[in-house]
Amino acid sequence: MRTHGAGTVALSDVDQEVTLAGWVQKRRDHGGITFFDLRDASGIVQVVADPLEHPTVEGLKMEFCVRVRGTVRKRPEGTENRDLATGLVEIGVDEIEVLAPAETLPFMIDDRTEVDERTRLEHRYLDLRRPRMAANLRARSRATAAIRRTLDEMGFLEVETPTLINSTPEGARDMLVPSRHRQGEFYALPQSPQLFKQLLMISGVERYFQIARCYRDEDTRADRQVEFTQLDLEGAFWERDDVLDTIEKVLAATAAEIRGVEIPLPFPRLTWHEAMDRYGVDKPDLRFGMEIVDLTEHLAGSEFGVFRNAIDADGTVRAINTGRREWSRARADQVTDRAKELGAQGLVWMVVEDDGSLRSPVAKFLSESETESIKKATDAVAGDVLLIAAGRWRTTVEVLGGLRNDLGKPSGHDELAFLWVIDFPLFEEDDDGSITFSHHPFTSPVSIDAMREQPETAISKAYDAVLNGIELGSGSIRIHDPEVQRQVFEILGIDRETAERRFGWFLEALQYGTPPHGGFAFGIDRLVMVLQGESSIREVIPFPKTQTGVDPMTGAPTWVEETQLAELGIELSAEARSRRGEETGSG
Ligand code: ASP
Repeated sequence: MRTHGAGTVALSDVDQEVTLAGWVQKRRDHGGITFFDLRDASGIVQVVADPLEHPTVEGLKMEFCVRVRGTVRKRPEGTENRDLATGLVEIGVDEIEVLAPAETLPFMIDDRTEVDERTRLEHRYLDLRRPRMAANLRARSRATAAIRRTLDEMGFLEVETPTLINSTPEGARDMLVPSRHRQGEFYALPQSPQLFKQLLMISGVERYFQIARCYRDEDTRADRQVEFTQLDLEGAFWERDDVLDTIEKVLAATAAEIRGVEIPLPFPRLTWHEAMDRYGVDKPDLRFGMEIVDLTEHLAGSEFGVFRNAIDADGTVRAINTGRREWSRARADQVTDRAKELGAQGLVWMVVEDDGSLRSPVAKFLSESETESIKKATDAVAGDVLLIAAGRWRTTVEVLGGLRNDLGKPSGHDELAFLWVIDFPLFEEDDDGSITFSHHPFTSPVSIDAMREQPETAISKAYDAVLNGIELGSGSIRIHDPEVQRQVFEILGIDRETAERRFGWFLEALQYGTPPHGGFAFGIDRLVMVLQGESSIREVIPFPKTQTGVDPMTGAPTWVEETQLAELGIELSAEARSRRGEETGSG
């Protein structure tokens, strides 16, 4: 249907006849002549026609789909558009044909118009015509191509694993699919391909990867989707550094492809404990400093009760220097409220005055040497605002880590700061006080004895990749000994019988000469989001769902026919039935 892409026509084509097809964008009439931009996937070119010769152009409206035969001309002096790749030329129309008219659109196809997200999602196919979204789609495709290329060169095998499976625990709820043949039984959609990739290691596939769709039914958390895409990868005869080296290469290749930057390798590494101690989070944003400073030893004898009590109770006193900033009573209250929200009992603030003294509600309780040590430890200079919290180590660093992010995080993603967080705890406390896995139950402990003796403090062979304060993904060296796997289940409160029932097939597989293995998975949505400078993964997912898992365009999830439900052996609750009646007008 066409000879050229609209965005590819250049000065070297002048005087050539070309046929183009695409959409009408920005039409204007000027001195009896009609101009419009013709857009296709390759870009935009200006088209010029005399409506007397080509009356069709008078009827052209925004986003009409058209075909144009014309001649490439150099634009007249002074009318060039240097912002446009094709800005030195235009197409003089010889013939124009409307391939498909368009109704008035719900919003403008440009990046300048603000459109609310629901409207965008209801007409996602139009939203994707907008340049920014089209660029995000292309970036995503280039990202997955770079990932495939890099892994292919390293000898990885791409293997697809099933998506109608038995549950694989990754800490979320399963999305379930009812079976028609076996009423009352359900498939789970994979939270990840975790156990299948481990089985592939047992099968002798030594290097596996997959660009895998994963499903996690999590309660509305900002910027999560019930379905998302991971690069999932696993290697046999691997130790931790084999995994980290491989993932670093993949991430660096993707960043190079999308941003044209060279990421210095290896990435910096912090242990989980260091990350918490210095940044108060397990996914620190290393684009800025404002590190947490330990003041405990300087304040051990303090007359200020809050500090002294915390220290006497084996707690800690920590500070961040938030730098020079406006500091009013109202601002102080606001930041204190935020600290409380993050779990603090209270927050102490101090402003360094020009004469070096400290302005603070607690200044009068501090000795001169304490004041000096605080300033020295925090590298404080006149104008700086210091924030200090005291209490249990974990809460204290988390509070300051939260404030650090609030006050220091750069907007956008111009800079890219990758890092590894290693040596995660094996287990953590659940909200109800019970013990749960921090990564997933297939992660190897560093020491089996330590795990048995003191599970609360045991360290695992798990690691996270972090980019600009966002957790990109996690991985670990796995348990390859069925006996150790049984013990981990037991510590997690899964008794032997339940473990056999749920994971017997996997425990059996482990006993046939399983090679030591490990792997990783990172979120492709999140990676592309950061590389494209977006702040939501919904901007880089072609057809995302809202925070409550709804697709406003197709209406999914939807009610199904009563007969279909009966085949599946599913009965609706009275409440669901009445809602269904209201929404569908059926009984
Ligand atoms: N399956 C893990 C996840 O989805 C990643 C891994 O351990 O390889 O987080």
